[in-house]
Amino acid sequence: MKTGNISVQTENIFPIIKQFLYSDQEIFLRELVSNAVDATTKLKTMARKGEIAGEIGDLTVKVIVDKEAKTITIRDRGIGLTEEEAEKYLNQVAFSSAQEFIEKYKGEANIIGHFGLGFYSAFMVSDKVEFVTKSHKENTQSVVWSCDGNPSYTIAQSEKTDRGTDVVLHISDDAVEYLENERIEGLLTKYCRFLPVEIQFGTRTETTYEGEGEDEKKIETEVANIINNPTPLWKKLPAELNDGDYLEHYNELYPNSPDPLFWIHLNIDYPFNLTGILYFPKLSTSMEVQKNKIQLYSNQVYVTDEVKEIVPEFLTILHGVIDSPDIPLNVSRSYLQSDKEVKKITGYITKKVADKLHDLFKANREDFNAKWKDIGMFIKYGILSDEKFDERARPFALLCDVNKDCYTIEEYKEKIKALQTDKHNKIIGLYTNNDAMQDGYIQAAKQRGYDVLFMDQVLDNHFMQHIEYKDGGITFVRVDSDTVNNLIQKDETFESVLSDTEKTTVETIFKAVANAGGDVSVTALSTDDQPVTITRAEFMRRFVDMQRMNGQPNMFGDMGDSYNVVVNSNHPMVASKLLKLKDGDEQEAFAKHLYQLALLGQGMLKGADLTAFIQSSLSFIK
Ligand code: ADP
Repeated sequence: MKTGNISVQTENIFPIIKQFLYSDQEIFLRELVSNAVDATTKLKTMARKGEIAGEIGDLTVKVIVDKEAKTITIRDRGIGLTEEEAEKYLNQVAFSSAQEFIEKYKGEANIIGHFGLGFYSAFMVSDKVEFVTKSHKENTQSVVWSCDGNPSYTIAQSEKTDRGTDVVLHISDDAVEYLENERIEGLLTKYCRFLPVEIQFGTRTETTYEGEGEDEKKIETEVANIINNPTPLWKKLPAELNDGDYLEHYNELYPNSPDPLFWIHLNIDYPFNLTGILYFPKLSTSMEVQKNKIQLYSNQVYVTDEVKEIVPEFLTILHGVIDSPDIPLNVSRSYLQSDKEVKKITGYITKKVADKLHDLFKANREDFNAKWKDIGMFIKYGILSDEKFDERARPFALLCDVNKDCYTIEEYKEKIKALQTDKHNKIIGLYTNNDAMQDGYIQAAKQRGYDVLFMDQVLDNHFMQHIEYKDGGITFVRVDSDTVNNLIQKDETFESVLSDTEKTTVETIFKAVANAGGDVSVTALSTDDQPVTITRAEFMRRFVDMQRMNGQPNMFGDMGDSYNVVVNSNHPMVASKLLKLKDGDEQEAFAKHLYQLALLGQGMLKGADLTAFIQSSLSFIK
């Protein structure tokens, strides 16, 4: 037996390993199982090249928990190490890299979980670690390297006759939770689920039946419990896969979720290595979608589900997997954000997503229109938040109208330009955010041959503003923002039936009864238009909406909720009926009724006002 000191440096890192990494203790299992898988993969490669003399045999990596002995063993049948190699790799290579790592990241506990500390992470949970190994090389003696958390280690001959390595962790008292099967199984499923070599954890009972009727016999057999899928879908070639495969994989990742809408298989080897599959989940109408569903892997080893730095914000609502050995996980987050390589990866993913959407758009327009309901909000979000995506996606961003027909921005401008161009040569898009409440306005607009868009989603205000600004060729106004003839200002005027003095009289009467907070005006409109119209200036309303969306208090107080009252002096109810009433009280009562009818049309008549209105309606009918 031989003893020695691992480190010649003065500082003893074992207490630091335990202390600093406490919060991410659990990664020890990932590190050790990955090492076992690496050793196995190396052996496979050598075997393929004919460099292994003896048998290859079963290469399953095994994780064994012995609760009584308080040990966890990670067993592989990989290349193993000779005594010399064990000294070199465990004492020098592994130790110094662990030490370097800790020095560098002392304060940054959150990134440690994203990056392996390697073999020495075993000491986070162990009082003593034994590394029992036999090299694949012929005629080598097996050895056991052992260390109890001091800088001194021993290395001695071992009885092990089988090729490969057993890492035996003697679990410390404060880490006994890892002696529970459920805990280990949970960790293996989290971190090792797609490792490229089969990993066995215990056995499970498989029940089969033999014979029939009375003779039926139940047969229970113990079979190896393999916890991983060594050939995950994203590593396969897209050409070899069908829709069913992708849906099955989605279900493997997110059991019991509704099927995704479509997916993108990422596969690139230059200028960086990246594979993965991104799924478009079925979104609900709210923006409260579950984010952080994308899992990041590095060579099939699970790293994290926080992919903010790698995937642009708007894409974090996608689901799926990204696997790249080229994402530098051993650097701090702020660095990651400014890293050129990472930017390239981000840009690539954005481009791929946009390309895929464009393909879907071109391949089947009808299907794309139908999907818009689900993906529209996501695309709008992308357009608003990512300039590159905006450039790529605007050609297939859709505007859908109250008839449920959808158009690209260009198509839409073409469609409405004949009737909806105003006197300043601007194309005006009309929209409603509530077709039930604004039905009167929508019908009035339709009567003029105008089209009305349906813009009821949270992001639509921002989206329209963005299109107005970026496209420049179209302006949007809500159908209730003005009287219908003013929505799209043309040089048309209606001759006034009333004289100016009569108009002033009408104005005085309405000013006395309407408490709009905004303007009361009298205008000569078409006799077909409503006698009284309630309008809300587009500019003010948008402003208040935006503030509300950003969670700010309403800066304009009551003014923000104010509306204008437009009286149509050409309407017979005003032009003849109102003015023919001789009594001032009667005139006011009549004007109030017209005004309240307009409010009623807006769903704005409530409480005592509504009751009074019903009363006066009854007396009018009488
Ligand atoms: P890394 O795996 O990043 O190189 P580690 O600290 O995890 O660093 O391991 C150090 C070295 O120890 C490895 O490079 C490898 O040579 C050796 N090693 C660790 N575990 C095993 C194993 N199960 N079989 C063979 N060699 C191993």
